[in-house]
Amino acid sequence: MNLTVLIPCYNEAESIRSMYNELKLVISEDSSKCSYNYELIFIDDGSYDTTLDIIKEFQQHDNHVKYISLSRNFGKEAAMLAGFSYSIGDAVVIIDADLQHPPRLIPEMIKYYIDGYDQVIGKRNRTGDSKTKTILSKLYYKIVNYLIDIKLTDGIGDFRLLSRRAINAILSMHEYNRFSKGIFSWIGFDSKIIEYKNQTRVNGDSKWNLRKLFHYGIDGILSFNNKPLTTTLYLGFVTAMCGILYVIYSLIRILIIGIDTPGYFTLITAILIIGGIQLISIGIIGQYIGRIYSEIKMRPHFIIKETNIISQKYINQGAGNDKKP
Ligand code: UDP
Ligand code: MG
Repeated sequence: MNLTVLIPCYNEAESIRSMYNELKLVISEDSSKCSYNYELIFIDDGSYDTTLDIIKEFQQHDNHVKYISLSRNFGKEAAMLAGFSYSIGDAVVIIDADLQHPPRLIPEMIKYYIDGYDQVIGKRNRTGDSKTKTILSKLYYKIVNYLIDIKLTDGIGDFRLLSRRAINAILSMHEYNRFSKGIFSWIGFDSKIIEYKNQTRVNGDSKWNLRKLFHYGIDGILSFNNKPLTTTLYLGFVTAMCGILYVIYSLIRILIIGIDTPGYFTLITAILIIGGIQLISIGIIGQYIGRIYSEIKMRPHFIIKETNIISQKYINQGAGNDKKP
């Protein structure tokens, strides 16, 4: 068996050494015990600190270490995709570079993989998270699961082992707007969840801020179906029905009592509410059009600056990658 471990890194100079040491310890012991080959692929997602130099250092004394350096920061989704496309393992583990995903879980994941599971998923509890964050994310998952067809679970992220056929399924999905939590769930296969205690980041900062999280949240809702469009349609129907009922009511009132001029409140309410609903609806449609626009351009998901992986695919890719190995 071959194992690939993918580590997406973006400005992780502070944590990557301890991460590598811990990972190496776990994997070298487990691989000799269970006799499998392994490769550790670090994907440098356009870091501007010394992350890449440190990875190259590892690679000098450890020939299991491979790296892919992207030409700029493409985001973790793209970094993971780069890793998937260049991995050769029968099983592929994705793990963060900041030690928030404990490497000691990997041997257990491999056991379940050998038992026949295609996805072995690490699920964190919420120890150490603030109350507001916990409540907000619970609420978010409730809304998202109502809105989309696939099921997303709180605490489940990218830390997981995937079998080769799961990887192939992911690689067959060419969409540009990638929401991997959704993709992992969409491909299906037998999954096993193993729980671990939440680890807070020791070094460096999370690459997420409120704005990014908000966008990610919207992405999750819009990436998987067009239910928001249907909801808009229903909202339109309901508003129109209310409007018609109000017109009938006013007409009857006029016929019985006659016209009375004061109507400022009703008028302004109608304008504001209907205007608001229209703007939201246009916004939702706009979001979908924006997505169609980026999908049809069919740009590559990532561009490689340099790598030490020699694969047919890499050589074929050619243009845009000047430093060939
Ligand atoms: N990461 C990446 N590209 C990015 C942002 C993050 O490759 O644009 C990597 C990062 O180096 C880390 C992992 O993705 O290994 C998770 O990032 P982070 O710790 O910031 O996210 P969090 O744990 O807060 O969800
Ligand atoms: Mg993290």
